[in-house]
Amino acid sequence: MNILLVEDDLELGNGVRIALEDEGMKVTWLRRVQEAARALDDALVDLVLLDLGLPDGDGLSLLARLRRARDTTPVLVLTARDALEDRLAGLDGGADDYLVKPFALAELVSRVRALARRSYGLEGQALVIRNLTLHEATMRVTVDGRPVELSRSEFDLLCLLVKRADRVLTRRTLEEQVLPGGLNNESNVLDVHMSNLRRKIGAGFVRTVRGVGYVIDRHAAAGEP
Ligand code: CA
Repeated sequence: MNILLVEDDLELGNGVRIALEDEGMKVTWLRRVQEAARALDDALVDLVLLDLGLPDGDGLSLLARLRRARDTTPVLVLTARDALEDRLAGLDGGADDYLVKPFALAELVSRVRALARRSYGLEGQALVIRNLTLHEATMRVTVDGRPVELSRSEFDLLCLLVKRADRVLTRRTLEEQVLPGGLNNESNVLDVHMSNLRRKIGAGFVRTVRGVGYVIDRHAAAGEP
């Protein structure tokens, strides 16, 4: 789980970071709207924790920007503004959940877990796209109901692509996430994993975007499963 924490309060931010890291989550902690916007463009983020009152603007503008771009990354808003109209504005702006400060860290952790479950089926139900089902907790993948045996790297690649269906992932992003040692322009390790993955799950599933990377389309093109 990659969490982007956007919070300018140092004490609170540090407490949240430690609480989530204790749960085995990876936390990137930023304090400004602009930095967070860049991180959301560049990095793989599973869930955003978003403060509204930030030094260079309102967190809601970041949320609005995400949703305009049809980015469905779950967002949990953290705010001291507990007035009812503010809550409603946040939820209308596409927030998935809302926590009013001050809150107990245990409550935050449980909301994050619940949101992740709802969005990704990280612990509960499987992710389903077209004729493929993926269960992250058990690393089980089926195509048309038939189990498919994948290596760890193939599974990790598939998992990233499925979680971010309809978004093109660059070669660099995929390499950084799944290949030990990360970047190596000369390496064709990614191509080897991708070709094995395609052989196992069916060729039409992962689409190459020439010169950029790969994408899984939520809906099949004509003639595909
Ligand atoms: Ca703040």
